[in-house]
Amino acid sequence: MSLSEIQARIAKAEKTANRAPGSVQLIAVSKVQPNDRVEAVLQQGHRLFGENKVQEAAGKWPAFKQAYRGVQVHLLGPLQTNKARQAMELFQAIHSLDRPKLAKTLARLAQELGHCPTLFIQVNTGEEPQKSGVLPADTDSFVAECRALDLPIAGLMCIPPVDQEASLHFALLGNIAKRNDLVGLSMGMSSDFEKAVALGATHVRVGSAIFGARDYS
Ligand SMILES: *Cc1c(COP(=O)(O)O)cnc(C)c1O
Repeated sequence: MSLSEIQARIAKAEKTANRAPGSVQLIAVSKVQPNDRVEAVLQQGHRLFGENKVQEAAGKWPAFKQAYRGVQVHLLGPLQTNKARQAMELFQAIHSLDRPKLAKTLARLAQELGHCPTLFIQVNTGEEPQKSGVLPADTDSFVAECRALDLPIAGLMCIPPVDQEASLHFALLGNIAKRNDLVGLSMGMSSDFEKAVALGATHVRVGSAIFGARDYS
């Protein structure tokens, strides 16, 4: 598959769902991908990317940001508090805000640095023990806690369990967002982004369908 194909499928899904053209942002998830594949997508004019790890992003994006105007990189993976400062300097958005300690650290650093990336709260919609994210039942109070800290919360993010129908999780995330007056919905990956668009995603995170399979060897 390719970037233009994925863009066309998103446009079609927007239309089918009666959503405005361009209402869904495509985050090209470049984690683990070789630089030549990333550069090919930059050369096609795409500017919004996602990474999972602070260290990996720090090694790769400063040079690309120098070379290409208007690049934005979002952090999608878990964030340790000791890397929060570096993350706030590297990323324009963080999709993995998942606990009070991290919220407090980000709030303190935002004061100090004078800016804060856009934030998404990760919700563990499948209540999977190995997965990060706040539980659905705890989300309303966590949103309130983050707002009390003046954090710029744009919306919610989820990664559905691999063995379950993703739409159920997208719908649940949408409901939690709605009752908290949040418009941002970061949901949908290579295998299910069209379903996510149908259920209101504002940001889809697509990796392998754009870049090809990741080689972890
Ligand atoms: C890797 C990753 C993606 C992209 O996954 P694909 O299946 O390659 O599209 C999206 N979101 C998160 C949080 C990821 O870690």
